[in-house]
Amino acid sequence: MMIVRDVQQLRAALASRRSAPGTGKEKKVGFVPTMGYLHEGHASLMRAAREQSDIVVLSIFVNPIQFGPNEDFESYPRDEERDAAIAEREGVDILFIPTVEVMYPQPTRTKIRVSGLTDRLCGVSRPGHFDGVTTVVAKLFNMVQPDYAFFGMKDAQQVAVLQQMVTDLNMNVEIVPCPIVREHDGLALSSRNVYLNEEEREQALVLSRSLREAREGVSQGEIATVGELRSFLETGIASSPLARIDYVEILTFPSLEPLAAEERFEDINGDIIAALAVFFGKTRLIDNMRLEKAEVLSHV
Ligand code: AMP
Repeated sequence: MMIVRDVQQLRAALASRRSAPGTGKEKKVGFVPTMGYLHEGHASLMRAAREQSDIVVLSIFVNPIQFGPNEDFESYPRDEERDAAIAEREGVDILFIPTVEVMYPQPTRTKIRVSGLTDRLCGVSRPGHFDGVTTVVAKLFNMVQPDYAFFGMKDAQQVAVLQQMVTDLNMNVEIVPCPIVREHDGLALSSRNVYLNEEEREQALVLSRSLREAREGVSQGEIATVGELRSFLETGIASSPLARIDYVEILTFPSLEPLAAEERFEDINGDIIAALAVFFGKTRLIDNMRLEKAEVLSHV
């Protein structure tokens, strides 16, 4: 595995690996953008990239412009040595670790903004967050020029927003959504889980438990409408005294259209998503579940 820290090195490393001599065939580049402090969720993306591509590029960059002024940019966990060992173990070919100066050498005046999809869910509680995400991902795509880019459904809204960006701007890359990876007890893996104290960690299990029970309720027909699903989730989460709900929303996916409370699942066309963001102490956790049309109708 080669570690590169600036754009020139990255382009050179890619150019020398990309053309497969003698075959006349271009190798496929799979890209996994992350903010580091890698865990099994990230590793699953690297594995998917390894399977689907000839060259795997992983980037680690804690992107300042996607953090709000009162968020955790400074304290975001970082451990380059450990991350490099994980990347190496997962078969990454090129590890790109730019500094803020490399990514933003002068004040940047160009931003990418996806409208509509970003004014709901996390876009409300984190104003400007998705502009930071789309801008940095567009820059990274221009640097790496990947054939495939792998993103976790843990950040489902991010997947929807990036898919829209790629379509709208005719970017020549396929976004590959990958399933949420969880701890054995159900907690969705996140670099931010290290902020949780023991009690918060224990109570945070309410998120995955509520989603799991809700899925069962829907598939058995006990939860039949959007409003019922929402109150089931809200009541479940509220049973943990430390949980402070930021949002619990049921939307279509990937178009992220809000659904009326009285809407019955069997009448909704296409997939839906139940997405939640909940504070435990100062730590804001997100989780979600996607319900496919077939699953919603399985009891009928
Ligand atoms: P981050 O380093 O948190 O910006 O995440 C980098 C990528 O890893 C994003 O595409 C995330 O959606 C993905 N990711 C983070 N946590 C998980 C998880 N528990 N399961 C699957 N993917 C994840």
